[in-house]
Amino acid sequence: MSIEIDFSKSVAEKINFFGRRFFIKRDDLLDDDFCGNKARKFLYFLEHDSPNIDTVASSGSSQSNAMHSLSVLAKMKNWKFIYYIDHLNSYLQQNPCGNFAHAIQNNMILEIGEMPVTFGSNVLVVNEGGAQKEAKFGIEKLANEIKDWVNEQKIEKLKIFLPSGTGTTALYLQEFLDFEVVTVPCVGDCEYLKAQFLELQSDERLHPTILKPSKKYHFANLYTELFETYQSLLRETGIEFDLLYDPVGWTVLGENLGHFEGFEVLYIHQGGLKGNATMKPRYERKLENKTKTKS
Ligand SMILES: *Cc1c(COP(=O)(O)O)cnc(C)c1O
Repeated sequence: MSIEIDFSKSVAEKINFFGRRFFIKRDDLLDDDFCGNKARKFLYFLEHDSPNIDTVASSGSSQSNAMHSLSVLAKMKNWKFIYYIDHLNSYLQQNPCGNFAHAIQNNMILEIGEMPVTFGSNVLVVNEGGAQKEAKFGIEKLANEIKDWVNEQKIEKLKIFLPSGTGTTALYLQEFLDFEVVTVPCVGDCEYLKAQFLELQSDERLHPTILKPSKKYHFANLYTELFETYQSLLRETGIEFDLLYDPVGWTVLGENLGHFEGFEVLYIHQGGLKGNATMKPRYERKLENKTKTKS
């Protein structure tokens, strides 16, 4: 099994939302199995041989996009994939779905508990969410595609926007680009994101701009207004966005339109649609219960 990612699929598409123009960089179209943000982050491993490695180990949540992508990478490389989860709810164990089901199908070996601190030299250890320096390789490619597009379109004033988890993508993108990169924390708060940036880059002048959400959204919790934003985007632009990061991203973008006045905006669509397979039914159940209690 091998994966050739066709990066020319990631076009920049023009849409209208919030009464203004945005360009959407369609990284969600890159590859069915290996799409969006994690295709960029793990590209280094796709394009380089690691002759001494026979196992990849990582940790994180039971529906993580990184987990799914790593299971595909491991299958392709003929590596064992060991994934450490704090706890696994018994419902998911008995009814695998979404990213978890895909990873299990790709022979992911599940361990409940903390990931060991050290491994043998045959093991590639990948930080939660793929937050590590190898990510730079694929993100530089993304930056170069953006530079080519800007030259072709003769765009002079541009800001880049993308929602952050670990902040790795936003940080490296800013390192490679002269345009301002603007982001929003979706997993922790602004202080968490700032600390993440400092881990990777001590010079704060090279950090992306962080916009603060007006309301605290806990990651992967359900908020009716976020689902409504997802639905409006789908209806008005025809593009499906993910339900974890993008609705927070667009909401905060909408609260800060003044920050982008006079600039074109390139929004990076980082994929994650496989995760919607579990998030959407959760939202639908929530909204159903709401209408039931109302009537
Ligand atoms: C992983 C992921 C992110 C977060 O990327 P970071 O580099 O960790 O900030 C955002 N969106 C999607 C869809 C992702 O899969």
